[in-house]
Amino acid sequence: MFEIRHSDLAGRIGRLRTKHGIVETPAFIPVVHPVRQEVSIDELKKMGFDMLITNAYITLKEYGEDARDVHDILNFQKPIMTDSGGYQVLVYGSVDVDHQTMARFQARIGSDVAVPLDKPTGFGLPRSKAERYVELTLKAAEDTIRMSKEEGRDEGDDAGTIWAAPVQGGEHLDLVEYSSRRLLEMGYEFFALGSPTELMEAYEFYTLARMILAARRVIPLSKPMHLFGAGHPLTIPLAVALGCDTFDSASYILYAKDGRYILPNGTVNIDELEYLPCICPICSSIGVKELRDMSRDERIVKIALHNLYTIKREVDNVKQAIVEGRLWEYVIQRSLSHPKLVEANNTLVESAEYLEQCTPIFKDRALFLSLPIDQYRPELTRFRRLICSNIRSDKSTLVLLIEPEEHPFYTSSKYKMIKDAINAIHDNDHINNNNKIGDDVQIAYYSPFLGVVPEEVSDVYPASHMVSVRSVKYYEFPTMIDSIIHFIRSNRFKRVLIEVDERSIQFMRSINDKLQEVEIGYCLNIEDIIAFIRSKQW
Ligand SMILES: [Zn+2]
Repeated sequence: MFEIRHSDLAGRIGRLRTKHGIVETPAFIPVVHPVRQEVSIDELKKMGFDMLITNAYITLKEYGEDARDVHDILNFQKPIMTDSGGYQVLVYGSVDVDHQTMARFQARIGSDVAVPLDKPTGFGLPRSKAERYVELTLKAAEDTIRMSKEEGRDEGDDAGTIWAAPVQGGEHLDLVEYSSRRLLEMGYEFFALGSPTELMEAYEFYTLARMILAARRVIPLSKPMHLFGAGHPLTIPLAVALGCDTFDSASYILYAKDGRYILPNGTVNIDELEYLPCICPICSSIGVKELRDMSRDERIVKIALHNLYTIKREVDNVKQAIVEGRLWEYVIQRSLSHPKLVEANNTLVESAEYLEQCTPIFKDRALFLSLPIDQYRPELTRFRRLICSNIRSDKSTLVLLIEPEEHPFYTSSKYKMIKDAINAIHDNDHINNNNKIGDDVQIAYYSPFLGVVPEEVSDVYPASHMVSVRSVKYYEFPTMIDSIIHFIRSNRFKRVLIEVDERSIQFMRSINDKLQEVEIGYCLNIEDIIAFIRSKQW
């Protein structure tokens, strides 16, 4: 039902197979009204939307129990997802049908992806109420999947309706996790995380991100996950990076009705616009004054189309970033649009191991490392762990240099200088049959982003496949110091000689306090290190 073609972080380019064809994910699924559409279905097809979502509850109210196939109602022969009325429950408190009726109805109208009638928890619900809503939703989900199996609608992967498991719980993360676990046990293959609209309106991106992670702690990455109501370009990159595959929203039209024009970094009322800062087909063909002077109905359609183009462009940018293996850079770059998104980036740090699962072991393109948060990239976390657990040195002396500009490390001039000095002593000692110091020195360098990099692995990915900023504040890189200390301890070095400069000296001195059992020397230049090696005064 779901096949993954490319992945980066927990974001995937996937193929979702439905009975009306394949949808490539991540995909934005526009919400359309079953009867009245301001933006025509033909227009949506032309824009390249391969899947639509409509409301089964409204369809039932409008057309009755013997409604036609939803594909005929919408005149759209591609995949259609139906929501069951959970949104109406969220807004009005309840609906006047039961979940059994909604389940039968959605199957009857030929929905490709259908949702059991849920009781959304929204945001800000007291715990006890949220618990009750979760249980009600689970009951509906259990009855629905059982009915689907009993009535033979579940005819394997290629046929029948895909039932989307409604994950509820809101900001009560343990409820989200519990809900996900129960739904997984029921046998659901597709998951839909509920009701984050209110969170997004309150810019509670960090809570939203933690909800996604809570669900993904339980739901395997092989199973696709939908995020309800995510219709703003701001939220899409992080949501994809954390493991969401599809999104639906009516924001494009709801905003348009309020005169709100979606920009990649936020929304703005068209009355406040001096220009149309966009090159979509709509904005390329009209000016801002013309847009304002249009009749209301005409203006709504134009703004809605522009809004859809903006959302689509965001999804396409995210997909391209996944293919190129630079989703991390893209998410960080986009997060700078809003302080609360920067705050939500903490989830990337908190879930490093999870994000590693789908991040390729090797990438063609060099990693660009600019900000302290980049030290937590999965590629770098993985590298530090490799050093920590796999690299063992039997030498008693460690020479630790500042990261050179040349890569790999062993081609750098200072590596060669140190190596030549050691070899010269080695040859000399060999003749005199003294201690073979050359065999007893481990050379490595330290990188703020990577931590300690021993010479043997300095050409292993990503050590020589990265471009990083040179002027860093070392105290912002705690992973580096942890990596150095761990490396020294686990290899039982007796002496460590560290090259420092004005920027690193203070910070590197803290190693001394943490490793009192080791003799540590600090040198401000290579010549001093060589002099030390030659004099053997260490
Ligand atoms: Zn536009």
